Amino acid sequence: MQLSEIKSFSKPLIANLAKLGVHDQQDLILHLPLRYIDETRIVSIRDLRLGESAQVQGEIVHAEVTYKPRKALIARLEDASGQLTLRFLHFYPSQINALKVGNQLRVYGEVRHGFFGYEMVHPQCKAARESSTVNEQLTPIYPTTAGLTQPTIRKAIQSVIRDAALLAETLPAFAYTALNLPSFATSIQALHYPQPDADLMALEQQATPEWRRLAYDELLAQQLSMRKHYAKRRSIDAPAMAASQTLVKQLLQDLPFALTSAQQKVIKEISHDLTQPHPMQRLLQGDVGSGKTIVACLAALQAIEHGWQVALMAPTEILAEQHYKKFATWLAPLNINIAWLTGSQHKKDREAAQQAIASGQAQLAVGTHALFQDAVQFNKLGLAIIDEQHRFGVQQRLALRKKGQPEPHQLMMTATPIPRTLSMSYYADLDVSVIDELPPGRTPVVTKLVSDQRRDEVLQRVREACQTGSQAYWVCPLIEESEALQLQTATETFENLKQNFSDLRVGLVHGRMKPAEKQAVMQGFIDGDTQLLVATTVIEVGVDVPNASLMIIEHAERMGLSQLHQLRGRVGRGAAKSTCILLYQNKLSEMARARLKVIYENTDGFAISQADLHLRGPGEYLGTRQSGVPMLKIADLTRDEDLLHHAKSVADALLKEYPEAVDQHLQRWMRHGVDLVKV
Ligand code: ADP
Ligand code: MG
Repeated sequence: MQLSEIKSFSKPLIANLAKLGVHDQQDLILHLPLRYIDETRIVSIRDLRLGESAQVQGEIVHAEVTYKPRKALIARLEDASGQLTLRFLHFYPSQINALKVGNQLRVYGEVRHGFFGYEMVHPQCKAARESSTVNEQLTPIYPTTAGLTQPTIRKAIQSVIRDAALLAETLPAFAYTALNLPSFATSIQALHYPQPDADLMALEQQATPEWRRLAYDELLAQQLSMRKHYAKRRSIDAPAMAASQTLVKQLLQDLPFALTSAQQKVIKEISHDLTQPHPMQRLLQGDVGSGKTIVACLAALQAIEHGWQVALMAPTEILAEQHYKKFATWLAPLNINIAWLTGSQHKKDREAAQQAIASGQAQLAVGTHALFQDAVQFNKLGLAIIDEQHRFGVQQRLALRKKGQPEPHQLMMTATPIPRTLSMSYYADLDVSVIDELPPGRTPVVTKLVSDQRRDEVLQRVREACQTGSQAYWVCPLIEESEALQLQTATETFENLKQNFSDLRVGLVHGRMKPAEKQAVMQGFIDGDTQLLVATTVIEVGVDVPNASLMIIEHAERMGLSQLHQLRGRVGRGAAKSTCILLYQNKLSEMARARLKVIYENTDGFAISQADLHLRGPGEYLGTRQSGVPMLKIADLTRDEDLLHHAKSVADALLKEYPEAVDQHLQRWMRHGVDLVKV
């Protein structure tokens, strides 16, 4: 029932609850406490323990407003066992009144070390009598909004929670008893009305069976909706393309290397998907340098062989260009026609490319965002490949998919590995292939953490590397607040380094350059004319220059872990031993230190992304995907991994045998009809 239909709920109350996302009775029931306070006991001052929150009662024996070191209201509360200081840094005249000597007070707060023994800062206070009773239950504290007090929320929840129908079980018992979890009704009641003997610590850490039950329910709902979505996709038509008979064989014959077994495995998975009459949506994950491009190319050939067009979209011009060249060398001998499309090309060239794509003369179109613009019409698009998929928004990927009729297959590639728990939850509707092996002959990159104070040594290192015929990258700091400032820093760094290395050929590349300029600079580096390339993070993705064996990253502490890993992946692509130096400014924060340590200690992208997830939480990870997928509110993928695994297997059983339970469960947990817009 909507809250507006409940007579006892006032308009302002309904409006305030709506701000919290609470619209109906089920929402209210699932509006769970943030924490609890224990007002069931009165603790003797002598028995207070540091760090603990407790309720004490006594008489005010001293009170004063002091002005040094800053204005504060300080009072001493005394009970039969001792004294406690109460300290207020902000206070109203009414509080001075309430804390008058001789008043009996009951206070609740966290016990801290103070000047004169234990103290509480800003405790909750209320007038009391010796005979005042204590609460019988722990007091839940709810997330709230301005104008909505805790007692009001509590009352609203209490008024609906007695309705047994609202707490009905959605799941058959086997689904939760195997984990020793209580029923839904028991859990909801215990969380809104914890018993006095409940373990406060466990409750606050959401570690009780009741919390776990709800986290599990939420994860299960997510699994169910993802599965349903997955199944729905199977009912959509897509071109079925039999495995390639000729083109793939021809390309493999000409290829100067043999595929790794990991590459062979993923190619098989993709090739099988393409034979199916419903759209593939597969995510190909492989660490930087694992060789995803050739995999994409082989997939493209399967489509092309059957007369379907392929689109390959990359997030930057540098990367798109590089793909274009690579595909051209691989596919020209097979007489395959490739169109090249970017936003920056001359109108005439673009129109020619569009023409070739529309007529079907171009069998493959490689480009940037330009590919999904309205003006681009494919003759017969059968496969859309998206490199570095996390750089594109849901809508952009969708727009590209819409260019085919029937729906084209979609292959997404990423070098930013998705942590296992994320891919089991938020990405459960996609198929995932992983290249978990690097081509042979690569030497691992050695990573060093160096303080900026030792910059001179680093400069010396760069000189030596370049003098011995190797090449180096110098990556300028990321300045998120201002692109202009970032550009300025890059330009200054470039000027400084050029002066410093008058004997070396130094180049500069940044995101604001015209594509032609950028391309010229990159070409200079690829050809070995430029020895040291100063760059902003535009080189983060995809750039492949095997002769570069040294990378300096300035202000590494400002960058995301996955980004650092990507950047570092630009070196170590040849046979030479490579080094990546992370320069940091002194005085790293605790967090920055922890993050850099992860990069320093790990070379495996999956381990790095898992650590990054722990440090940052899933929000940032999901990025654009977030817009289409409801976020988990209760479950925590780090804490609740065991529940996730269980939910996954139970979801299968439920879908097979208990369709009604599935509907009921989804109705409770996904009621607001979240439309799962899919990547
Ligand atoms: P990424 O997965 O980062 O996109 P690329 O596809 O750019 O990696 O491959 C990196 C380099 O490795 C390229 O120069 C590519 O030609 C080469 N490569 C790919 N597969 C193999 C292989 N099986 N053996 C040797 N080199 C390979
Ligand atoms: Mg790549």
